[in-house]
Amino acid sequence: MVKIHFLGASGTVTGSKFYLETTEKNILIDCGLFQGKKDLRISNWKPLPVSVGSIDVVLLTHGHLDHTGYLPRLVKAGFKGNIIGTAPTLAIARIILLDSAKINEEEAEMANREGYSKHKPAMPLYSLNDAEHTITLFKAEELDRWMQLSENIQYRFRYNGHIIGSAFIELDISGKRFVFSGDVGRPEDLLLDPPVKPEWADFLFVESTYGNKLHPPDNVEERLVSLVNKTLYARGNLLIPSFAVERLQSLMYLFWKLYKKNKIPHIPIFIDSPMGNDVLAIFERFPKWHKLSKKEYKAMCRHFNIIDSYRQTWETIDDPRPKIVIAGSGMVTGGRILTYLQQLVDNPNTNILLVGYMAEGTRGRALLEGAKELKIFGKYYSVNAGVYHEESLSAHSDQKELLDWMASIKNIPERVFLIHGEQEALAAFKDKIEDIYKWKVRIPELFETAELIF
Ligand SMILES: [Zn+2]
Repeated sequence: MVKIHFLGASGTVTGSKFYLETTEKNILIDCGLFQGKKDLRISNWKPLPVSVGSIDVVLLTHGHLDHTGYLPRLVKAGFKGNIIGTAPTLAIARIILLDSAKINEEEAEMANREGYSKHKPAMPLYSLNDAEHTITLFKAEELDRWMQLSENIQYRFRYNGHIIGSAFIELDISGKRFVFSGDVGRPEDLLLDPPVKPEWADFLFVESTYGNKLHPPDNVEERLVSLVNKTLYARGNLLIPSFAVERLQSLMYLFWKLYKKNKIPHIPIFIDSPMGNDVLAIFERFPKWHKLSKKEYKAMCRHFNIIDSYRQTWETIDDPRPKIVIAGSGMVTGGRILTYLQQLVDNPNTNILLVGYMAEGTRGRALLEGAKELKIFGKYYSVNAGVYHEESLSAHSDQKELLDWMASIKNIPERVFLIHGEQEALAAFKDKIEDIYKWKVRIPELFETAELIF
């Protein structure tokens, strides 16, 4: 018997944590932070409803915050085992945890300074020290190699093309195969190879972020060309808020390719994201994990002006040439993009390109909904810039791509669990799988436990 606890990303997208208790080893798959709605975020402060001291090992599908961001809390609560992932996953997780700790410390400090927290003193969710201690438990493992955890339990990581290093996990327990999809990448990605597909699954746990959606056909190149031309014609600025992991590198690749194909002229492009620079170093360190050769990668980076100090940010703002700036953060919740917007958002010759999903309550969402003013650090700025939205460049498979990803499974799974999705996406995807494959599908609730008997 295996007892599974759905400790996150169940009935919702963030906070991925799946805990398996067996007679031999107790395994936690992913250890993510809840993000977004307040009632979920509060869970990040509560102790896990399982005995942390009994967890033997953590296996990570990839480095994103909603899959790794709770790790320092787990370690603070007494976890002492290994945290295992592929080498680039651990490299990304390191950057993300240190950044998250820094943000948490800064927020607590600000709350204490301005006295708006009801906790006195306000404490960070975890500190830089906690994050650094967590990183000492990291242990890298290769792809495709079966690793023995105990007499009857083994696991392996398999490439799934979502972000650099990402994998799905196959876990064999007493002859039954558990498959955890992680976040599944797209079959055609600019930088990553198509995901490998599972061929056997007795218990399948599959993400459903786009379980009810199909990505529109991709003509992002044409739209970028037209925005670049518009910017040049007006002698203005094109500002692109971007996530530091994967999105930034995909945008760089697109612009570089457009330039090489003579589709855009040589317009200066600035990359202003300290975290993005760290991720670029990971792409350089792990050339086998993406499509670019070492030579191509170097040539691509040379095409951009990569900013590494805040002084250069100001020099870039003062630079009178028409230009493109790609800067964090992706939903305009923080980061260097705020400095550019403070100076340039009131200028009608500025264009802002928002890429991907903009969560409710973010400045990105406000811009998207036509806000006339933007509040940055307590001050209001008039929005006269043009605002555009690019919905492609998603790192997640859509409904059809997810169904294809499962299509190579030769057996009939005893149970499929749909995780990592909003309610509507989960429900639609359940209907679709039952209709097409006739498999038994369940949508677990948050903090539910299930006993799988075999
Ligand atoms: Zn992810």
